[in-house]
Amino acid sequence: MQSKVWKAIGLILILGACGGAKETTTSVAVEEKTYADQRLMSTLWIQQSGEAELLCRQGFAYAWIKLQENLKGYNGEGQLAIVVDIDETILDNSPYEARIILDNENYSSESWNDWVMEASAPLVPGAKDFLMKASELGAVVYYVSNRKVSQLDATIQNLERYNLPFADPDHVFLKSEDSDKTERRERIKFNNTVLLYVGDQLTDFSEELKVVEQETFEYSTELLEQTMKYFIILPNPMYGGWESNLYQNRPGMTNEQKNEVRLRSLNPQYKPKK
Ligand SMILES: [Mg+2]
Repeated sequence: MQSKVWKAIGLILILGACGGAKETTTSVAVEEKTYADQRLMSTLWIQQSGEAELLCRQGFAYAWIKLQENLKGYNGEGQLAIVVDIDETILDNSPYEARIILDNENYSSESWNDWVMEASAPLVPGAKDFLMKASELGAVVYYVSNRKVSQLDATIQNLERYNLPFADPDHVFLKSEDSDKTERRERIKFNNTVLLYVGDQLTDFSEELKVVEQETFEYSTELLEQTMKYFIILPNPMYGGWESNLYQNRPGMTNEQKNEVRLRSLNPQYKPKK
């Protein structure tokens, strides 16, 4: 993959020296392809590996264990509830990723919206079984997602396709403005005792975890304890906050600039942070 990037950069330099308009278009196409191709292995891993499948099933099996464990500490105050993210937690959007890779495109809100409106995302392995067992146990399920509120109907339709519990507007909290989920979680906690959170991003549990990731990977004892007790994380190598961190959330970066940052971020001397 790395050599392809350098080939693309080399091609740009050579073609840039020629100065022809047609060649510049070709070099941009090569660069776009290289950039899109970098999502290929992670998408294949989700779709084709037994490891990904098993990891999701294990995640939900562990979620079930933790839910029952946390229930023991329930003092009867508030409605029992769990909070789950949707994308790459309950619904698997790897078909969308496959589509844009094959079309040699980047993620765009337009193509993403088209995909969401199809309401055809498959289920993440183990998700339905866990949600059914949790609701049979008496827990209300809240879906907290950063899909847009304009995508509510299609999102519910996609969840209903699998007869998932609580797939209705009172239990699906999408993004109106802020992608920070804290306020939505607080609203849920007002009337409910949340026994467990499940997601594929650190921020599906707490914004504090993002700070830990961006800085030192040092958890306070309390944060680590709370996270281990209440949060189950599922694998998503395709995209996420970790990638935005690489670019330090700089808006408007070209694919070429992003490629450079990606290469620069690889560390042959890497050692685990903790
Ligand atoms: Mg997600």
